[in-house]
Amino acid sequence: MKFFDLHADIFYDLTVQEIKGTPSTFEERHLKKFKAGNVKSGIFVVWYETDSEIAPSVFVNRAFDVIESLEENAESSLYFIKDFKTLEDSWNTEKVGVIIGMEGVSAFGDSMEPLEAYYESGLRHIGLTWNEQNTFATGVFGEPTRGITPLGRKLIERAQSKNMLVDLAHLNEKSFWDAMSFTTKPLFVSHANAFKLCPHSRNLKDEQIKELARNGGVIGLASVGSFLSEDMSERHVDKFIDHLMHMAYLGGIESVAVGFDFCDYIYDEYVGVKNLEDASKTGVLVEGLIKRGFSKNDIEKIAYQNVLRYIKSTGF
Ligand SMILES: [Zn+2]
Repeated sequence: MKFFDLHADIFYDLTVQEIKGTPSTFEERHLKKFKAGNVKSGIFVVWYETDSEIAPSVFVNRAFDVIESLEENAESSLYFIKDFKTLEDSWNTEKVGVIIGMEGVSAFGDSMEPLEAYYESGLRHIGLTWNEQNTFATGVFGEPTRGITPLGRKLIERAQSKNMLVDLAHLNEKSFWDAMSFTTKPLFVSHANAFKLCPHSRNLKDEQIKELARNGGVIGLASVGSFLSEDMSERHVDKFIDHLMHMAYLGGIESVAVGFDFCDYIYDEYVGVKNLEDASKTGVLVEGLIKRGFSKNDIEKIAYQNVLRYIKSTGF
């Protein structure tokens, strides 16, 4: 089964390696696992730690230098997706298809103008914040009564007019509902699970799940232990499927996808979700879905078809 992963911090990882003075390639660090799990394409984001010593704009510029050199390397196993045509083409190559994303736009500072230059550099996806609050919106660590700012609304409108993907992951509830109130296109959440099953601030309440589905969006289920259960012993692939079933029950099978957010390559002592620790393990997920009664057709929808349908619907 082929998979489209809605969220991976690959460009963050490659940039960190570069900054640490241990430059490494996608092939060295990631390709084997992607191939083993048949993860065919994904949104790879430039993420940065907002409390890091390096300013967001400095980190992001370094990241785009790394991306540029990857794009210039014809030997690279990455296929850069810029529109729906190249997305379709990427499925017919041996390469891993990648949409360049940005998880939080704090690097833009107080202006939405940087969007244009990053778009020229290939950026096709944005999330307005990571967990912080910034000039544009409020993440889950921000003030609960603060949502999307007037400039944030303009940024979303500009991004949508350029047919970019706008991601609501990490936003607080106020920002989520603000975005839903004015959007002219379906919106999506790249990586989150169900709050009803695990009350984590990053998870989605039932009403949010229903609204995303009603709006024609998709939600990428995340393989992040703390989003699955407060009980460490329940952080396994079966719990991931419980979350998926809850969302599919509320929003329909068309609304669910995967946004694994694997962190195996980010932290040294990383304990992943049991049997879904990294990109190589998607086969275990497929087996689990079959055991729980999902048809091949349903599994194809979850693995990639819903994402392709969603992306096409945005005019990408
Ligand atoms: Zn994230």
